[in-house]
Amino acid sequence: MTLDIVTLSIALFFISSIQAIVMLFIFRTIQDYPGMYYLLASCISSAVSGLFFVLCTTFICGGLAFLGSNIFCFLAILTLNIGFSKFLGLKVEKGKLWILFAFLLAGFSAFTFGINNGRWRLILFSVLIAILSFLNTDILFHHKADSFRPVTRMAAVIHMLFGLFFALRAVFTIFYRTTDVFISTLLQLMALFLSIAGILINSCCFIIMAIQRERSEKDQANERFRQIFETIPDTVIISRFDTGEIIEINEKYTEETGYTRKETIGKTSMELNLWKNDKERELFYGLIRKQGVLRNIELHITAKNGRSLSALVSASLMKMEHQTYIISVVRNISRSKELVKKLNTSEETFKAIMEQSPVSFMLTDINGHIEYVNQKFLELTGYREEEVIGQTPRILKSGFQTRKFYQTLWKTITSGKQWSGDIRNKKKNGDIIWEHICLTPILDEEGSIMRFLAVQEDISSRKLMEEELRIQARTDMLTGVMNRRYFMEKAEKRLLNARATQQIAAFLMIDIDRFKDINDTFGHNMGDKAIRIIASQCQKMMKQEDLFGRIGGEEFGALIFCSNPEEHYQIADKIRCGVENISLLDVHGGRISLRISIGLTHYRPDEDTMETLMHRADMALYQAKNDGRNRVVLI
Ligand code: GH3
Ligand code: MG
Ligand code: MG
Repeated sequence: MTLDIVTLSIALFFISSIQAIVMLFIFRTIQDYPGMYYLLASCISSAVSGLFFVLCTTFICGGLAFLGSNIFCFLAILTLNIGFSKFLGLKVEKGKLWILFAFLLAGFSAFTFGINNGRWRLILFSVLIAILSFLNTDILFHHKADSFRPVTRMAAVIHMLFGLFFALRAVFTIFYRTTDVFISTLLQLMALFLSIAGILINSCCFIIMAIQRERSEKDQANERFRQIFETIPDTVIISRFDTGEIIEINEKYTEETGYTRKETIGKTSMELNLWKNDKERELFYGLIRKQGVLRNIELHITAKNGRSLSALVSASLMKMEHQTYIISVVRNISRSKELVKKLNTSEETFKAIMEQSPVSFMLTDINGHIEYVNQKFLELTGYREEEVIGQTPRILKSGFQTRKFYQTLWKTITSGKQWSGDIRNKKKNGDIIWEHICLTPILDEEGSIMRFLAVQEDISSRKLMEEELRIQARTDMLTGVMNRRYFMEKAEKRLLNARATQQIAAFLMIDIDRFKDINDTFGHNMGDKAIRIIASQCQKMMKQEDLFGRIGGEEFGALIFCSNPEEHYQIADKIRCGVENISLLDVHGGRISLRISIGLTHYRPDEDTMETLMHRADMALYQAKNDGRNRVVLI
C-alpha cells in the first residue's frame, strides 16, 4: 500500500472513528463535563470528512464529495472550538463561528453553483480553516485553568501549525498559479496528515484533561470530606459491618476516648473495650442490623483511662466498594447530664429557699400571668395555688391605688427597671393588707424581659403603727382633739383656702374660768376631767368644716365658718352655754360648775394671718375676763 491521498483519507476515517468510539467509552466511565459531546462530534465530523474524501477520489460524484469533505473538516474544527471553550469555562464566540460558517457556505455555493472555480474555493476554505485554527489556538493559550496549562499548550501548538499551514496554502494558491499535480497532491497529503495528527492529539489532550479534572475534583471532594470529618464537633467512627474493624476515626475520637489513631485503626470496639456493657452493644448491633439506621440512643462508653462517658449515638449503614460499613456519630453528653443534675439540685435548693422564705414571691410571665407563687404568698392572700396560677396580679387589686399609679409601675418594669413601693392589696376574703413590693424584670442574655418577679412583704402592722404615731403626733393626749401644732398647721391652710374661696370665717379663743380653783379644790385629776369634758362639749358644737383644737393648758382654739358674720357670735355663745350646762360631779356627788370665756374675732382676708387673728382673739378674751368672765367678747 502506498501513502497516497486515498490511504490517508481512509486512515483519517478509521482513526477518527476509533477516537470517537474510545471517547464514547471514556465518557461513560467519567463524569459529564461541559463540552465533552462537542469533542465527540468533532471526531465524528473528522471521520465523515475522511469518508467523503475517499468517495471523491474513487467515484464519479467527486465534486460534491469534495465539498462535503471540506464542510465536515470545517465542522470538526468548529466543534473543537465550542468543546474546548465550554470545557475550559470560556464564552463560546457564537457570532464569530456563525460568520465563518456562513462565509464557507456562501463561498462554496458561489464558487460551485455560480462560477465553478476550484482555486478560489480552496483559497476560501484554507483562509477560513486558518482563522478557525487561530481562534482555537487563542482559546487554548489564554484560558484561566492553570492545572490544564501543559496539555492545552500542546494542543494549541497543533492548532497553530494547522492554521499556519492553511494560511500558507492560501497565500501559495493565490500567488503561485501552478498546474503541477505533484505540488497540489503534496499539499493535500500534508493537510490530511496534519488532520490525522490533529485529531489524535486533540482527543488525547481532551481525555487527559477530563481525567485530570475528575481526579482533581475527587481530591477536592476527599479534602472537603476530610475537613468536615475533622471539624464535626462529635466523635465519628467508621467501621466494617462484617468484622467490626475500625477503619476511620476523627480527631474528636482521640480527644474523647484517649485512644490514638494508631491504637484504634484495624481494631474492633470490643478489642478496645469501648463498650461499658454488653447489653448496650447487643442493642446497638441488633438495631443497626434490623433497621440499617439508628438515631440518638443513649449508650455508655469506656475511655482509655477507665472513665465512663454517657453518649448519644446515631449510626447508619453505608455501602462503599462492595463493602458495608457502619458510620457512627457519638456525642458526649456526660457534661450536659452533669449540668442538668447540678441545675436540678440548684433548682431544688432555690425552691426550698423560696418555700421557706418569710416574704412572699410571685413570678409572672411577660404578660403578667402568674407562673409561680410560694407558700408565704398563699398564706398571706388566702388563695390556693390553683386559684392564682394563670391569673394576673389584678386579683389582689384593692382599689386604693389609682390607675395612674399602676400605669407608672408597669411603665417602669417594662422598661427593664426595678420598681418598689408600698401597696394596699386585697386578700381573698376581702381584707386589706399593706405590702412593700419590689418588682424586678428578669432579663435573658440579650437583655430582653423574660419574666417579672414580685417580692412582697406584709407591712400591715408597721403601717398600723405608723398611722398610730401619725395620729399621736397630731392629737392632744388628754382630750383627743387636735394638738396646738397640728391645729395651727391646719388652720393656716384653711385660712388660705378661705381667702381663695371667699369664705367667711371667725376665730374663737376659749379659756376656762377660774380653773386654778377647780384644780385646787378637787385635785388635778378632776381638773383634767373638766378639760376633757369641756373639749368634748365644744367639739360637739363644731360643724364638719370647722377646726377645733387644744392650744394651751386649759385654752382651746376654734376656726369656724358661716355664711353670715352675725352667726359667729351666736355660735360662740351657744358653745359657752353648752359648757355652762355640763354637770360635772365631784366625789361627793356635788355639781362642779364649769364656765368659759370666749374671745371672738372675724377673719379679715386681706390682712389677717393666724398670728394676727390669735392676737385679736386673745385681746377679746382678756376683755371677757375683765368684764366678769362667762361671756363672749367680739373684737
Ligand atoms: P382665769 O379665769 O383668769 O382664766 O383663771 P384661771 O384660774 O383659769 O387662770 P389660768 O387660765 O391662768 O389657769 C391656768 C391653770 O391651768 C394653770 C394650771 O395649773 C392649770 N392647768 C394647765 N394645764 C393643766 C392640765 O393639763 N391639767 C390640769 N389639771 N390643770 C392644768
Ligand atoms: Mg388660761
Ligand atoms: Mg382660765
